[in-house]
Amino acid sequence: MTIKRPKGANDIMSDTIRQWHYIEEVVRNLMLVYNYEEIRTPIFEHTELFLRGVGDTTDIVDKEMYTFLDKGNRSITLRPEGTASVARVFVEHHIYANPLPAKYYYMGPMFRYSRPQAGRYRQFHQFGVEVLGSVDPNLDGEVIGLAMDFFKRLGIEDLTLLINSVGCPKCRPLHNEALKKYLEPRFKELCPTCQNRYEKNPLRIFDCKSETCQKIIKGAPTITECLCEECKEHFEGVKSYLELLYIPYELDEKMVRGLDYYTKTAFEIVVGGIGAQSSIGGGGRYDGLIQEIGGPDIPGIGFAIGLERVLLTLASQNVPLKSILKPKVFVALLDTELIPQGIELVAILRENNIPASLDVMGRKFKAQFKYANKIGATHVITVGEDEVRDALYPLKNMDTGEEEKQTLLSIIEELKGE
Ligand code: AMP
Repeated sequence: MTIKRPKGANDIMSDTIRQWHYIEEVVRNLMLVYNYEEIRTPIFEHTELFLRGVGDTTDIVDKEMYTFLDKGNRSITLRPEGTASVARVFVEHHIYANPLPAKYYYMGPMFRYSRPQAGRYRQFHQFGVEVLGSVDPNLDGEVIGLAMDFFKRLGIEDLTLLINSVGCPKCRPLHNEALKKYLEPRFKELCPTCQNRYEKNPLRIFDCKSETCQKIIKGAPTITECLCEECKEHFEGVKSYLELLYIPYELDEKMVRGLDYYTKTAFEIVVGGIGAQSSIGGGGRYDGLIQEIGGPDIPGIGFAIGLERVLLTLASQNVPLKSILKPKVFVALLDTELIPQGIELVAILRENNIPASLDVMGRKFKAQFKYANKIGATHVITVGEDEVRDALYPLKNMDTGEEEKQTLLSIIEELKGE
């Protein structure tokens, strides 16, 4: 039996890898403009980091982590998200001793053991940002605006930005009490997960997928009704920022997001046309997280966007992807005797940053042309004895079919200009 890839994991190649490159380039340009620095953390961490940094009433920690013992008997987990790792770096490397805020972005694979379906995988990729050190609501606005700018630059439309405030350690306990009081008579009807949440973090019951829990929670008091003055004022500040920059949003009092340590601002971006998994990105403020993992009392905010879902959306909205490919040249030889000249020619083109290649399969001249067409070469240069002698080479444009004899210098100038 042949060996197949594990369930829920994807091989990314051919046209798709070119789309990934394009999206990655958009991310890097965007991050330069906003002045965020890339951070690369290990894809595995001590399990405890996620227990404390993501929270044990979340689905991620409760049932989706890839956890194993390594050969030293340490409990290791493949990272299910990026925030906890960035928070760890911030504490471990004393980044808080530098001028703040610290602004980071990351891109890379995450791992969650959930039931695979369209838009939901066991290995998937996120682009995320984390900013540590400021409680300014204008920063929340910047982070949300940055996520929306990413979609705009890609040409994605029809997004809905949902925002909410989930309160802080001052007002959340009041809401928890009100919520528990409301839920108490129907506690036994809640699903086992929500019965657990009832004790630890009842707010997260709003997030439950079970129909019964949703029915029960429907008329429950929302956190919005219980926000303290500080949280209310902060939320007003976030909304003002969004209005200033004409970023449309919807208020969603029941949106509470997955992490346990979210405080104040929470947001989610949803899109139609990609099936049941319609959340394309989301994030929020986590003012208690750094302290929770053993650092100083320093606030933070961030988001993560699922790149597979970005690709699905680009396809469903038929967004033409601007090509980042430079011309690809194939050097076709009329005679195998000319292989050394062909090798030299390709080397010169590459030196000038023009992507170029040569046949290595012993194909006849005609077959070389066919192959060039197949791999999407934009130009073919023919090399024969006469061409080498006269130092003039026919350059064929594979799109238009036009062919013109040129010196190598003028070929390089033409292709560099494209
Ligand atoms: P979260 O870290 O759960 O807040 O998710 C942030 C974003 O990551 C979501 O909006 C999705 O776009 C994406 N995402 C989360 N889980 C998965 C998954 N299992 N497969 C693909 N994308 C995912």
